[in-house]
Amino acid sequence: MSRRPFVAGNWKMHKTASQAGPFVAGLRERLVDGVDAAVCVPFTALAAAVDAAAGSALAVYAQNMHEAESGAFTGEISAPMLLDAGVDGVLLGHSERRALFNETDAALARKLTAAHVAGLAVILAVGETGEQRDAGETEAVLATQLGALTVLTPDQVEQTTIAYEPVWAIGTGRSATPDLAAGAHAFVRGWIERRFGVGETVRIQYGGSVNPGNAADLFARDDIDGGLIGGASLELDSFAAILSAAAG
Ligand code: PEP
Repeated sequence: MSRRPFVAGNWKMHKTASQAGPFVAGLRERLVDGVDAAVCVPFTALAAAVDAAAGSALAVYAQNMHEAESGAFTGEISAPMLLDAGVDGVLLGHSERRALFNETDAALARKLTAAHVAGLAVILAVGETGEQRDAGETEAVLATQLGALTVLTPDQVEQTTIAYEPVWAIGTGRSATPDLAAGAHAFVRGWIERRFGVGETVRIQYGGSVNPGNAADLFARDDIDGGLIGGASLELDSFAAILSAAAG
């Protein structure tokens, strides 16, 4: 089964609206045939990114959203609001959201449903901490986090991108080895196949200190369908190099 590679940049809390527009204008000129590309952008820069990406194949994602359509949730943004702003998708469950903002699997299940109902594309991030890996708990942790998917239909799961991001590899410069990442991807794919029968078609990105030097070796593995890129997505040249690596 050949799956189209998908590389997404997660800007985290970087880039203002006035920085995002020119960056996206440059990036849209460096997209690579055969590779889907997206940027996950802070809320305040979404409009500028959407405008700059208009008419190109570059997708613009938010980094979080609230599960309700509207209501008394001061400071929050809903899926219909993102859609109305021209946003294509949303990144859900990033480890920073889980660890720093108490995002739970139960809340993520509700957000997954809301995003799919609204028609937003979704990247769901999962991954174990270093302590969990050392304790031999990686597969149990991944299975628990993937459990949020059980609110979705198999078609919706198939359309959801999973990002396997070992927490100990995020922002540390210590990427997982291709062997280790491929092992986790195979587990995630098998779990999704057993529950939903779409394991062969669902796309699974690897995230955690991907850079232009290690991307090709990671993406060469059968089960690794591209990447979710943090720090190296903030520079045009390094993100473009990673897009090229995904083309094989
Ligand atoms: C991320 O933010 O999801 C990420 C993987 O960051 P980095 O590439 O900087 O490790």
